[in-house]
Amino acid sequence: MQYITVLGSTGSIGVSTLDVLARHPDRYRVYALTAHTRVEELAAQCERFQPEVAVVGSSAAADKLGALLKLRGVKTSVEYGEAALCAVASAEGCNTVMAAIVGAAGLAPTLAAARAGKKVLLANKEALVMSGQLFMDAVHASGATLLPIDSEHNAIFQCLPSGYQRSPDTHGVAKILLTASGGPFLSRAVDTLDTVTPEEAVAHPNWVMGRKISVDSATMMNKGLEVIEAHWLFGAPASQIEVVIHPQSVIHSMVAYVDGSVLAQLGNPDMRTPIACALAYPERIASGVSAIDLAQIGKLAFQRPDFERFPCLKLAYDALSAGGTAPAILNAANEVAVQAFLERRIGFRAIDRIIAQVMDRLPHGAANDIDGLLEQDRLAREAAHSYLF
Ligand code: NAD
Ligand code: MG
Repeated sequence: MQYITVLGSTGSIGVSTLDVLARHPDRYRVYALTAHTRVEELAAQCERFQPEVAVVGSSAAADKLGALLKLRGVKTSVEYGEAALCAVASAEGCNTVMAAIVGAAGLAPTLAAARAGKKVLLANKEALVMSGQLFMDAVHASGATLLPIDSEHNAIFQCLPSGYQRSPDTHGVAKILLTASGGPFLSRAVDTLDTVTPEEAVAHPNWVMGRKISVDSATMMNKGLEVIEAHWLFGAPASQIEVVIHPQSVIHSMVAYVDGSVLAQLGNPDMRTPIACALAYPERIASGVSAIDLAQIGKLAFQRPDFERFPCLKLAYDALSAGGTAPAILNAANEVAVQAFLERRIGFRAIDRIIAQVMDRLPHGAANDIDGLLEQDRLAREAAHSYLF
């Protein structure tokens, strides 16, 4: 039996995770659920999955959740705040943690799970982008198992030899081909991009996701963060990670080998597939996702990304090659800019401009410890805020 903590259970990934778990009550029990503000949804999830603990973002939310659970006769205990998130991510009562909080807010609990040697299912790419080597060191020191949920990385994981660990022996891997849909603005005239609305930006052509990652997909910062994520997960240098635009999102990513073989993983754009794959690994379980109909899809298209249309992708490659604290600075500036765009305080093209300004202004250095990284995250947010007007 796997006992699971779902960090961010009310989000898009969290809900898909619970959908898969509910299909296999013989294998999985929920140990803890967490949400930031959506207390009513969390109460309904607690009633259905009866976790030991539920964690929310504030004492007011905890009071509200406590009252709702009492009304429903649910015995789940209620906690709030970051320390409680870290506690449920590292508790003895759970062996598997779905890390599905969005953004830097997920770093502390995801790291706590890694340090506690859990099976960590990583959706929260920002946590790994920020902390890179420190996160991977924590995984190796504790013997935690790290399995990627991001559909591209899960696809790559499936296309690599089993037990793959990059070392001087690269197992014949020549390149990682990270596919990208190109988002909603792939063919829109570049000079009209500054007038796009948040509604247009979050309307992803293939995937239904949270608002932040949807905007990241429209700027292609999402792919940039994924390049950095792939670097850490698979130990590949930036020069071996290539982004390929594939608008249909049928191929979720590929691995090219030195003998000329390219292995791809295909499927419908539904996150329950990578979630089920990671939950049951190395077994396979039903996820509720139907098989693809290739004849109906007909054609698959590919093209190279254009850095002028998608400057955020270039900024992310630059941050990866700068190394150290640069990816944490990039991530923090992006989070502030995306939030400001969603609040209609800045235009779409201001997102990449603000990130570039913050990257120029803040000197990046070595990432020696988490406290130092969090300080860089704070400074980058402060700098990004100063450019909002
Ligand atoms: P979402 O916005 O739908 O959900 C976010 C969850 O995090 C919610 O449960 C929310 O309560 C919680 N949360 C938000 N702010 C918080 C805070 N400050 N403290 C604690 N909890 C907080 O996001 P999502 O689309 O489910 O994405 C979650 C993560 O998974 C992101 O890192 C995203 O990049 C990654 N991801 C998502 C998808 C997808 O298809 N949605 C695909 C690949 C990767
Ligand atoms: Mg992805």
